[in-house]
Amino acid sequence: MKYIDEYRNPEIIKKLAEAIKKISSASYTFMEVCGGHTAAIQRFGIPALLPENIRLLSGPGCPVCVTSTDFIDKITKLSLEPGTIIATFGDLIRVPGSELSLDKCRSEGADIRIIFSPLEAVSIASVNPSRKVIFPGIGFETTAPGTAVAIKKAKEKGLRNFKVLSAHKIMPPAMEAIIRDGTRLNGFICPGHVSTIAGSKIFNFIPEKYGLGCVVSGFEPADILQSILMLVKQVNNNLPAVEIEYRRAVKPDGNETALRNMQEVFEICDSWWRGLGIIPASGLRIRKEYRDFDAEEAFTFETSSTDENPLCICGNILRGLATPSECPLFGKVCNNDNPVGACMVSAEGSCNIHLKYHPS
Ligand code: SF4
Repeated sequence: MKYIDEYRNPEIIKKLAEAIKKISSASYTFMEVCGGHTAAIQRFGIPALLPENIRLLSGPGCPVCVTSTDFIDKITKLSLEPGTIIATFGDLIRVPGSELSLDKCRSEGADIRIIFSPLEAVSIASVNPSRKVIFPGIGFETTAPGTAVAIKKAKEKGLRNFKVLSAHKIMPPAMEAIIRDGTRLNGFICPGHVSTIAGSKIFNFIPEKYGLGCVVSGFEPADILQSILMLVKQVNNNLPAVEIEYRRAVKPDGNETALRNMQEVFEICDSWWRGLGIIPASGLRIRKEYRDFDAEEAFTFETSSTDENPLCICGNILRGLATPSECPLFGKVCNNDNPVGACMVSAEGSCNIHLKYHPS
């Protein structure tokens, strides 16, 4: 297949659904760990095409959802300091910290600008030399190389007023934490965008160490069904492996240039995942060679609470242990206008997606 409409062709989709049904002889639970997959699965009605013995769970693949309360507290505090500009992707704006969100800070006069690339933040720093421009770096292997390039560009231009507050994370340790936490799975629908950068080989440890299948999937309905078919075959044949369904974008070794930039600017550190706690060696912090651009070095922060609303079950949802409709606040107290937890804020968050497609 070459064009998008082929990946949405009803005949192809029907054949894939029939093929899955025909060989599904046991119970299967697969987890997708990409918010884009969670959204596509609901948007295209994939669960309705599957037999009842195949269950899909959503994992911690939404970057906004796993960003800690502490991080939001830091960036909101910075936004209220005189002379600062926060240049951020739009999906972070409404994420609640322990007291404030960037949205609320903006209503109190903070200068918060929505950008579409970290390089825009560098440009803003360039034309505002008397002000500190802070870019909150969130997301996984997909977005970290872009942040790295922005930091290198700021260094090249000598822009000391450009800073990054990094909460970047990498995906494999979170998947391993979920397996170790005891979530019962037969395999993963692996993230397509992360794999485009990092390559499929980052998942090799999953079949080797834990005997679980992995298929890197694209985002169209035929992609997702084909990936599920591949996973069912792996389980049936008891041959767990890392396979690539999304061959038009993903190679085993990933994008070497992007990885080189990421590794030049960032080093691995422990990281706090909202709802999951600290996961060792799962974060990316700025190397000392680039410390002039590190907001953690430039500003002093008090340690703030990582507590979330005790009724919010985002953590269990991100671990595949609960579904959004099991949350007592879902759709009532917590909704698009009043997101209580991060899973309701982002368009890639499980609760947000669930409310959109299953409002009652
Ligand atoms: S519905 Fe809201 S409060 Fe409940 S788990 Fe989702 S984000 Fe948290």
